Amino acid sequence: MFNTLSDRLTSVLQNLRGKGRLSEADIDATAREIRVALLEADVALPVVRAFIAKVKERAKGAEVSQALNPAQQVVKIVNEELVGILGGETRRLNLAKNPPTVIMLAGLQGAGKTTLAGKLARWLRGQGHTPLLVACDLQRPNAVTQLQVVGERAGVPVFAPEPGNGVGDPVSVARRGIDEARRAQHDVVVVDTAGRLGVDEEMMQQAVDIRDAVQPDEVLFVVDAMIGQDAVNTATAFRDGVGFTGVVLTKLDGDARGGAALSVREVTGQPILFASNGEKLEDFDVFHPDRMASRILGMGDVLTLIEQAEQAFDAEQAEATAVKMGSGQLTLEDFLEQMLALRKMGPIANLLGMLPGAGQMKDQLAMLDEKHLDRVQAIIRGMTPAEREDPKIINASRRLRIANGSGVRVSDVNDLVNRFFEARKMMSQMAGRFGL
Ligand code: GDP
Repeated sequence: MFNTLSDRLTSVLQNLRGKGRLSEADIDATAREIRVALLEADVALPVVRAFIAKVKERAKGAEVSQALNPAQQVVKIVNEELVGILGGETRRLNLAKNPPTVIMLAGLQGAGKTTLAGKLARWLRGQGHTPLLVACDLQRPNAVTQLQVVGERAGVPVFAPEPGNGVGDPVSVARRGIDEARRAQHDVVVVDTAGRLGVDEEMMQQAVDIRDAVQPDEVLFVVDAMIGQDAVNTATAFRDGVGFTGVVLTKLDGDARGGAALSVREVTGQPILFASNGEKLEDFDVFHPDRMASRILGMGDVLTLIEQAEQAFDAEQAEATAVKMGSGQLTLEDFLEQMLALRKMGPIANLLGMLPGAGQMKDQLAMLDEKHLDRVQAIIRGMTPAEREDPKIINASRRLRIANGSGVRVSDVNDLVNRFFEARKMMSQMAGRFGL
């Protein structure tokens, strides 16, 4: 997502580097290129127009700054305006003063509502809430079962109509779901509703009826970012038909151009709260306009990376490992644990993609081979606990056994063991140097 846009914007802005002063013509030319980049990324025309007008006006009026050169000033302006169209401040979920907080999901079929319900439930649990999922999508075959599956994965109960009663009444299910939440003291209720392939009256009416019955604190409009310009039309239809308080973008992991993400907030006036970027429950983040903007401008998203790391790594264990690293006592078992935690954060290429300047190393990132990591994992798993604990005992015959057992060449095992010793030595030297 955003790769092409990000490349284009980065190179437009890089062209300004080294210029002592920006003439009006420079600014106009830059603005034109940014405009083309945004249009090609499928950003809605009115949004592009407003954006360009603001950037131009601010760039031309920019006061002389001691700290920034003219090119940096333009980058700063573009960044700030991007943050602006993405919504400015991060918008937190509104929680009701008197629980349960009711969150209703609405959107087209296939937008990712049911998947999102599971992600949201998992995330809410992680935040210390006790959510309940309510299955009101009685239109799509299997939607109820699908919700039960994601609920189970998220470790969150699901309230659903009893099977065998034909197509139940979603409004009554919604109402009973809220009663159940009160009874069992769930503090947040997530109501999944039915979607259609296109916007239609009946679906809108059903969503309105459910909304009126449950009086949600938040209505989240779920939209597939891959549908491009259509996202804006659908969003407008839902805004006028049902009304919503926030947007969730899904499928940001796809290779779409990103225009939907950049338009929907500006066109509907409602903020983006969450972003979904994969099929797994953990592929989900709070949407931070500032971080997204800096990612688009190739400035990296180190904060998200740190947060993901905090979730994946157990702080105490990480601390213990750090101490071991410093004293040269790291074992292959520790190494394996760290590697598994790192891989829990997602594909390595995605993680590195969040680092500043990652745009320029795309080719190398694409080559980063998950298979290599699989191999390393297999080798370590092929070792006995004693070998992992004290790799020095891994002699030639042990190496042969490990290679045979994990389906690799002996040279792969040699490679891993040698690199491990080198890394361990380097870590303890570094720790010594920093006085750890
Ligand atoms: P619903 O009809 O709105 O409930 O949509 P679903 O939750 O059933 O999702 C439709 C399809 O999109 C499913 O195959 C999901 O696995 C997939 N999906 C949902 N969210 C994402 C996402 O963020 N990324 C990707 N790649 N697929 C997703």
